[in-house]
Amino acid sequence: MARHNGLDLANVNGGFIYAAADGVVRSAGPRGGYGNVLELDHGRGVRTLYAHLSEIDPNLREGDFVYGGAAVARMGATGNATGVHLHYEVYVDGLLVDPLHYGRPPVHVSAPAPANPYLPEPTVTPPPAQPAPYPAAPSVDDLPDDAFVLPAPERR
Ligand SMILES: [Zn+2]
Repeated sequence: MARHNGLDLANVNGGFIYAAADGVVRSAGPRGGYGNVLELDHGRGVRTLYAHLSEIDPNLREGDFVYGGAAVARMGATGNATGVHLHYEVYVDGLLVDPLHYGRPPVHVSAPAPANPYLPEPTVTPPPAQPAPYPAAPSVDDLPDDAFVLPAPERR
């Protein structure tokens, strides 16, 4: 088994992949066992890589600018992936680093497709939706009157 570097993120097949930060497309296309790969250059030596994609925004070309948070690709299992996941890597000055220490938290990198998708529908039927891993946080209004509620932080 090859050494595994990076972070594997689960989501539904066809779920959106978002650019971790403002950047420029460095490469977009198939890359062996990584399947369809998108690589973004964020400047100052920082690059992010998104692998096993089912689809990359067909409008993206090398050198194109993308905003952080823009939908750039869809989740898939291309290459040697054993299942649908995003393989996410972060490089600083050419060195692979722990993605959890850089950039936005990965929750912003991948998410189910929004209701108004930017990319065409995936060609593969996604699996049935899974229940949310955590229940939604209760609203302050739902709490009993004697509940201790932290005061909202002061705005400057
Ligand atoms: Zn991986």
